[in-house]
Amino acid sequence: MTGKRALVTGGTGGIGKAISVALASEGCQVSVTGKTAAEVRGCSKSRWEISATVLDVTNAAAVRKLIAGFDHLDILVNCAGTILRDQREFDPGEFAKVIDVNLSGTMRMCMACRPLLAKSRGCVLNLASMLSFFGSGFVPAYSASKGGVVQLTKSLAIAWANEGIRVNAIAPGWIETAMTQPLSNDESRSRAIVERTPMKRWGTPDDVAGAAVFLCSPKASFITGVVLPVDGGYSCA
Ligand code: NAD
Repeated sequence: MTGKRALVTGGTGGIGKAISVALASEGCQVSVTGKTAAEVRGCSKSRWEISATVLDVTNAAAVRKLIAGFDHLDILVNCAGTILRDQREFDPGEFAKVIDVNLSGTMRMCMACRPLLAKSRGCVLNLASMLSFFGSGFVPAYSASKGGVVQLTKSLAIAWANEGIRVNAIAPGWIETAMTQPLSNDESRSRAIVERTPMKRWGTPDDVAGAAVFLCSPKASFITGVVLPVDGGYSCA
């Protein structure tokens, strides 16, 4: 994958950073984005040659401006994501905000990058979730957005196949990151997750990165429209 250009939104976060480092270690030239300047500063300290920029994926003008700065792109990884706990997603305004980041933000990035990806016959990797398949009584917007990411992935895979753009998704199980910290810090909820997972542990961001590199690599050249669970068996139990 030497010399391939990759863009990872949410690449300052737990899973996004692991994917970015894994792509960089395969020889890709990686750019990442994060929502805040503080996250971007933290990421720039990485020992890998990764450039980092602030981007809010809900801001269409900012998305267009960022992509206008690219003259070539082979790989887009849509890792930017958010979740609102404590019943906040039952408020319709908050519900819409989560959809705007997780689902519409993914679509915004895909559409902005499409011309570049068509030129390079590149690929997109989206981040789905176990909650793409199961409902949630706590985070309805997150769950609806991730269900949408699966259907968006399949739809764009069909629509863009004749342009040579592959579009796939990974559905991580329970991965220890800042997003899941409230659960991993809660002993009884954490224990319930581990007990329900056949491999009897939380996943790490690196567990996701290997699958991501594979789906973005030429080894996956005839794979498009798939949603690959990386979940220690959670979704089959
Ligand atoms: P994280 O909180 O560590 O990282 C989230 C990233 O998204 C950060 O880089 C943040 O800057 C970025 N982000 C948030 N809002 C944004 C916005 N409006 N615009 C641009 N960027 C924004 O979380 P993570 O666990 O690494 O999650 C990464 C992706 O994986 C998310 O899409 C998440 O839904 C998905 N996922 C995570 C898990 C898990 O267990 N951690 C499971 C399934 C799916």
